Amino acid sequence: MRPYLLLTPGPLTTTETVKSAMMSDWCTWDKDYNEGIVEVIRRELVGLATSRPEEYTAVLMQGSGTFCVEATLGSVLRPDDHLLVAANGAYGKRMGTIAEYYKLNCHVMRFEETEAVDPKTIDEYLTAHPEVTHVSVVHCETTTGVLNPLAEIAAVVKRHGKVLIVDAMSSFGGVPVDMAALGIDFMISSANKCIQGVPGFGFIIARRSLLEQCKGVARSLSLDIYDQWETMEKGHGKWRFTSPTHVVRAFMQALTELKEEGGIAARYARYRENHRTLVEGMRSLGYRTLLPDEWQSPVITSFYYPTADFDFNTFYQKLKAKGFVIYPGKISQADTFRIGNIGDVHPDDFRRLVDTIREM
Ligand SMILES: *Cc1c(COP(=O)(O)O)cnc(C)c1O
Repeated sequence: MRPYLLLTPGPLTTTETVKSAMMSDWCTWDKDYNEGIVEVIRRELVGLATSRPEEYTAVLMQGSGTFCVEATLGSVLRPDDHLLVAANGAYGKRMGTIAEYYKLNCHVMRFEETEAVDPKTIDEYLTAHPEVTHVSVVHCETTTGVLNPLAEIAAVVKRHGKVLIVDAMSSFGGVPVDMAALGIDFMISSANKCIQGVPGFGFIIARRSLLEQCKGVARSLSLDIYDQWETMEKGHGKWRFTSPTHVVRAFMQALTELKEEGGIAARYARYRENHRTLVEGMRSLGYRTLLPDEWQSPVITSFYYPTADFDFNTFYQKLKAKGFVIYPGKISQADTFRIGNIGDVHPDDFRRLVDTIREM
């Protein structure tokens, strides 16, 4: 069942027990599914995201993570609102693209892909542009592995009284964040990242009082998070349209395994140890990381090609034959490849990976 380890940040390596949880069929209007699985997941997601669960609520949405980012921007921003997107990679830029499709008033503030988003620049922009109503930012930019300084960014956005939308796709469940403490209003992630489920749906954790005001704002029926939420609330875990039942059941198992591991703090510690083991090993072989350590997340690590004539494809195929699948780079200004540290992977896997690269 596991021809190789996915050292890619989603889909990622899942446990046998998560995969096995998909081996039964569920009825989408039966209580066993709605109350026994969907409502449990919604409650647990809120519990993981905030120290004040009574102020927040969760909506699950079919599709990949991008569907949920699009659903959020399209259901929350009104025609007169103004969005500031802080972008230091492909996922930040993608939020700008979504805003273009929806013809939102939007300004994309570009940062270097090899640098973190700078809260001071946001502060200055918000001072100069009081018409901005919403700010969106990516927590971990999976493009490079930068972990943006979310607490500092949130402090600035809240000081200016703006709504804060966070793409926490590749960090939620693997890096501790308290939405209430930081003042985050909407936070988005998906099943196949740090919770370690399989792909098929995503979710939005929202400040209840704000989501309640979003009736009729959406420009898309399928991606209307208010309507989806209202159906889930009133129907006690009912989805509007066919839900990915097997994937949802597997996700509940993944949440159980997160608890068994010791929660987000324990998972964060394992990911950091994975990352440390990988980077120490790779540096001992002469590889250099793209990012300075201060901005590096424990989620995914970018490495420079070791030599000018390095052939990524050959390297990839050789590693795959040895049981490790890695990721190509995703930035234009440097030749890099990426190795994911998240999923059901452990420090020993990274020791074996480094040994394999040494032998190659
Ligand atoms: C994975 C990811 C997404 C969503 O990508 P999909 O391919 O749509 O699942 C969005 N933002 C970030 C930061 C991600 O890592």
